Amino acid sequence: MTDSSPVLDLVIRGGTLVDGSGAPAYLGDVGIKDGRIVEVGTVTSTAKRTLDAKGALVTPGFVDIHTHYDGQATWDGVLAPSSINGVTSIAMGNCGVGFAPARKDRHDWLIALLEGVEDIPGTALAEGLTWDWETFPDYLDALARRKFAVDVGAHVPHAALRAYVMGDRGGDHLEVPTEAEINEMERLILEAVQAGALGFSTSRTYVHRSRSGDTIGTLSATEAELMGAARALKTAGRGVIQLISDAYLTPDDEFAERELGLIRTLAGACAPLARSCMKASNSCLSFASRRRCSKPSGIGSVP
Ligand SMILES: [Zn+2]
Repeated sequence: MTDSSPVLDLVIRGGTLVDGSGAPAYLGDVGIKDGRIVEVGTVTSTAKRTLDAKGALVTPGFVDIHTHYDGQATWDGVLAPSSINGVTSIAMGNCGVGFAPARKDRHDWLIALLEGVEDIPGTALAEGLTWDWETFPDYLDALARRKFAVDVGAHVPHAALRAYVMGDRGGDHLEVPTEAEINEMERLILEAVQAGALGFSTSRTYVHRSRSGDTIGTLSATEAELMGAARALKTAGRGVIQLISDAYLTPDDEFAERELGLIRTLAGACAPLARSCMKASNSCLSFASRRRCSKPSGIGSVP
C-alpha cells in the first residue's frame, strides 16, 4: 500500500518567479516543506495546501532598511503597509529619531519631533504608544513581548539619546555636549547594541524639524560627539551608523567636503556606515555607501 499523504506543506503555483539572483523572471511553482523551499520550477509533488499565484510575483522577502515604525511597532504587530507589500524584515530608528531612551517627561517632546520629522500624526502616536520602557534595552524588551508579521530591528536614535543625556540642551543643535556627556552617550550606545540594537542613527539635515519647526538637535553634532558613537560600535564589534546629511544637496562645496570628511572619519573609525539620501520627492531612497569594519581588506561601497 502506498503512502498517499502529501509530500509538501505548501505549493505556490503558477507565479512569476523573481528569485533575487538577477535572473530574468519566469513562470513556475515553489514547493515548501518544514518552512523551507525544497522545490522550484514545475512542482508535481502533492501538498497539504496550494496557493494559486497566477498573475502575481513570487519573490524573496524584501528587507526595508529605512523605516520609522518605532511608534507603530508598539501597538501594531502587522506593521502595514510594509508587510502586505512583501517586506519581511524592517530596520527602524533611522534618521536619529525614535522613542528610546526616554524619560517620562520627554514623551510629548519626542512625539512632536517624530511628527515633524516623519509626518506621523502626533495624535496617533499619543494614543498608541505604550511607553512601557525608559532605556533602549527596555524598549527592545517591550518589542520582544509583542508578535510581529515581519522581523524587526532598531537603531539607537541620536536625537532621543542626546535629550536623554543632555536634557533640554540636547534639543538644541548649537549646544555641545561635555566630555562626560559624550562618554555617557557612548556607554548607552554600547549597552543598547549589546542588548540587540542594530546600531546608531543620526540626522544632519535642515529638512528634519520638530512639529514646531525647530531644527533637530543632532543637526550639527561635532566630530567628537559622533566619534563616541563610532567607539561604542567598535567596542561592541558590530552595529551600523545610519545617517542623513545635507552634503548631497548643498550648493556649498566646502560644506559638502566637511560633511563627507566627517563621514569618512566615522567610517575610518571602524564603524560600518550607511548614508541615506533623499530626492526632490522627499522620500528616503538610497544608501549611498556602506562600509564594514569587520573586513578591513574588503571595505567597499554598495549603491
Ligand atoms: Zn528617515
